Amino acid sequence: MNASGHIARKRFGQHFLTDVGVIDALVRGIDPQPDDAMVEIGPGLSALTQPLLERLQHLHVIEIDRDLAARLRRMARITVHEADVLTVDITQLARSLNLASLRVVGNLPYNISTPILFHLLDHVDVVLDQHFMLQKEVVDRIVAQPSTAAYGRLSVMLQWRYEMDSILDVPPEAFDPPPKVDSAVVRMRPWATPVAVPLAHLSELVKVAFSQRRKLLRHTLGRWLEQRGFAGDFDVQRRAEEVPVAQYLALAIQTQNKAQA
Ligand code: SAM
Repeated sequence: MNASGHIARKRFGQHFLTDVGVIDALVRGIDPQPDDAMVEIGPGLSALTQPLLERLQHLHVIEIDRDLAARLRRMARITVHEADVLTVDITQLARSLNLASLRVVGNLPYNISTPILFHLLDHVDVVLDQHFMLQKEVVDRIVAQPSTAAYGRLSVMLQWRYEMDSILDVPPEAFDPPPKVDSAVVRMRPWATPVAVPLAHLSELVKVAFSQRRKLLRHTLGRWLEQRGFAGDFDVQRRAEEVPVAQYLALAIQTQNKAQA
């Protein structure tokens, strides 16, 4: 139990930020403005919530833990959505509030951070920007460049829709209880004019490509392309990690047109 009297629940990935310097740097990185429409995922014991509310007129929070949600409801200028963020329709939330776009922030539960990132990808059209504390290894994968071990499905899918920067490294001691891993904060800004390709199609293509990342693409994506009768120019004599995002996008467009023809 920590000073707040709350026992951290492992199943909810609860590691509460306690380092004032880190909280301050994170808030400065977010740079909240009074009129911002902001949603915090997993506010917990309000380490970040409190300083955000000092700068905002209002804040929406999504918290799954019933006890923590009850505490948060006592705060002023806050709307508490007691829910699993993976079930929250962020687009619907923005529409119901009559907002064109939302800023999304949070020190995410690491056990479900990838599902949360993919969930938010479905709602990218109503997102102005996202600032997330994540396991550093996940941030490294998100921002990874081709021909590196960290480059994979997550890098391609997210780099397609967001401009991203790792803005802060955070050690385990900044949390109570401390996680076993290093953390980092990523800033994600949706591209204004992303390459237009259906998410499901790109997702399937990238999944097939990275299904056996040590093998040459001819064993995986090559077969998938053959099945689609693809006769275009794409070098399958290389590994999935060697293909830049732009080439995956171009291939998705070409094969999508093929599927429609
Ligand atoms: N923001 C707080 C901080 O920085 O100290 C807490 C961060 S803690 C790493 C993750 C928070 O997300 C916890 O409050 C946890 O209860 C909440 N959480 C876990 N799974 C969730 C889910 N599926 N939906 C919404 N909140 C969730």
